[in-house]
Amino acid sequence: MISVEEAQKTILDTIDLMASEKVLLSKALGRTLSGEIISPLNHPPWNTSAMDGYAIRFSDALTASKASPQTLKIIEVIPAGKLPEKTVGPGEAAKIMTGAPVPEGADAIIKVEDTDKDGETVLIYVPAENGDYIRLKGEAIQEGATVLSRGVKVRSAEIAMMASIGKSVVPVFQQPRVAILSTGDELADLDEVRGPDKILNSNGYGLEAQVRESGGIPITLGIAKDSKEDLKEKIAAGLSADFLLISGGVSMGDYDFVIEVLEALGVTMRLWKVAMKPGKPLAFGTLSDRPVFGLPGNPVSSMVTFEQFVRPAILKASGRDQLFRPLITATLEEDLRKRPGRRQFMRAIVSIENGEYRVRSTGVQDSAVLMSLVKANAFMVLSEEGDLIKSGERIKVQMLSEPTV
Ligand code: AMP
Ligand code: MG
Repeated sequence: MISVEEAQKTILDTIDLMASEKVLLSKALGRTLSGEIISPLNHPPWNTSAMDGYAIRFSDALTASKASPQTLKIIEVIPAGKLPEKTVGPGEAAKIMTGAPVPEGADAIIKVEDTDKDGETVLIYVPAENGDYIRLKGEAIQEGATVLSRGVKVRSAEIAMMASIGKSVVPVFQQPRVAILSTGDELADLDEVRGPDKILNSNGYGLEAQVRESGGIPITLGIAKDSKEDLKEKIAAGLSADFLLISGGVSMGDYDFVIEVLEALGVTMRLWKVAMKPGKPLAFGTLSDRPVFGLPGNPVSSMVTFEQFVRPAILKASGRDQLFRPLITATLEEDLRKRPGRRQFMRAIVSIENGEYRVRSTGVQDSAVLMSLVKANAFMVLSEEGDLIKSGERIKVQMLSEPTV
């Protein structure tokens, strides 16, 4: 059996980048930039005031103080959104608001708090220095500068940055379309009338949500029976998507036909079985570069193998640099037993106490028990070697969402 890392490498090596497309800035949140963003303008576009106050010539107020204020003549009021009309000469000041362009002649701003207005004049109570409270043209962003690189995930800060330089349409990688097929004679869908011999198709829904969380576009193909004919027909329908996920039917049972059918359809199988728990029966192949995953049917195994193998593959295709969940080190709060030989991903809850990460299991680890996944915000990553891990040991943990506090 191959290791988790070998399996990840085998899979990721086959993954190509999606093509580029342009989207409206307002639709770009969560997407990945497929090109550099270069600023066509300076920001601010002119020297602007960083304060509400008075634009003056600093040499007019070198020694101003409360005891001996400097009196200047007010020649203009400049609100934000208006260009100045006059030049500030010696002995003169322009009243100016935050964000307004600094008038010609002025080289310092005095905060309004450090002044008093007296009719047409202003009293300056503090000494000025050259450049006080002036934001220089292009200080935040220079025309021609690369403000964002290819591969960056667009968050709200990137949206605001692109808006500030007028990018209303932005280049991003396309989102992979991910077809999802559930298999099993025992399965019924939520909207079906079902007999007493059926269980509900939870994997189909869980995988659809995981695909969406990973930035893919799910295409649901429903349920295939455990017959070669039905599998062939439904799998063939999924082979036009960018990714195909099949859940169930990849183990050693008498009706596990998925791998046989994939091979019959021309899929080159590249791996089957990984030294991990849960998730051992994972299968992976390609059909002319299109990745095809055979995920184990047990609900937890399906979600865990998606996390370890499918999510990084979707992220890579979407152009992202960081493919894996963050790994932290946490202090174990209980003794744990495991069987040696396979990497174990144990459902766990991480909390922060006095600034330190602590971790404990969320209970029964059977791969059919979704409740312990519902309670989890992390997986403990227990190495292949060893069988007993003692309370107090520092262990590796993969974070799935925020720790509890
Ligand atoms: P399999 O991998 O097909 O042998 O399935 C292993 C176990 O997972 C069996 O108990 C199945 O009933 C269950 N299972 C398979 N597919 C699903 C599914 N889509 N939703 C919920 N349980 C499933
Ligand atoms: Mg099955």
